[in-house]
Amino acid sequence: MIRSQWDRRIDRATELTSAYPFAAEGMHFYTRVATFQRALYADTARALAGSSPAVSAGALREELHLSFLLPKFPEFLSAIRQFAPAPLAHPADRLRQQGPPGWQRAIEDFWYGDVESLPGFGQADEQADESSAAPPERWLAWIFLQPYAEYLADQRAPVTLHGTPSTCPLCGAKPIVGVLRSKGDGGEKSLVCMLCSHEWIFRRIYCPACGEEREPQMAFYSAPEIVHVRVDVCDTCHTYLKSIDLTKTGLAVPVVDELASIPLDLWAREHGYEKLQINLLGT
Ligand SMILES: [Zn+2]
Ligand SMILES: [Zn+2]
Repeated sequence: MIRSQWDRRIDRATELTSAYPFAAEGMHFYTRVATFQRALYADTARALAGSSPAVSAGALREELHLSFLLPKFPEFLSAIRQFAPAPLAHPADRLRQQGPPGWQRAIEDFWYGDVESLPGFGQADEQADESSAAPPERWLAWIFLQPYAEYLADQRAPVTLHGTPSTCPLCGAKPIVGVLRSKGDGGEKSLVCMLCSHEWIFRRIYCPACGEEREPQMAFYSAPEIVHVRVDVCDTCHTYLKSIDLTKTGLAVPVVDELASIPLDLWAREHGYEKLQINLLGT
């Protein structure tokens, strides 16, 4: 059997659990989330096999197979309730009790809403208003919908890019991490989508938050214990995004190494930078 992208992520999380003790707790949580997501991706592939999701670029979120997704949601909430930290476990429990109308609202609010704004799940639990799902519910919907979005993205024909979009050319969500590879005698940078995991080529010196392209305003930092991960910062808008340098280790799996490199987030925040997109561990 071919190892899937989910297997690679889970294996990498296991490796990093022992390599980076500071990340062990987060990697344990991620491993369980990714194990659920792997199963949901496989279920999605089975359920949608034969249907032709011929949606054009940028329109991935126009389709939503609610009759397939909705029955899967309570199972996901039960799993999360068992192993998530309290700021996610309690909302998962609450949401589970709401039944199908609440589940549908959480899924649709996230899918059709502004996926660019996703605050940390430790925040604003009480600030829910009546009209939209509260941040922890958005968070749960995000984690749940990732494998479904990734399946839809994987079915797309290659996308022709116009310029260098700062959000995902397939689904419009923000990037979660950058990737550096060697190409010719230089290097190439790409960004990975926080929702559908699509990866697109990006300019090396360009801020995805504000469009800054003057080199003195852009800098990057790394730490000796995690040399293959760097923090790309913009001194114009004070935003940062991590990049995984695959020229330094080919073993890295960008979305997982991003989650594990917690000391770099602490460093960036101590220096006044705000993250472009909070990850699923809330860092
Ligand atoms: Zn995307
Ligand atoms: Zn900027």
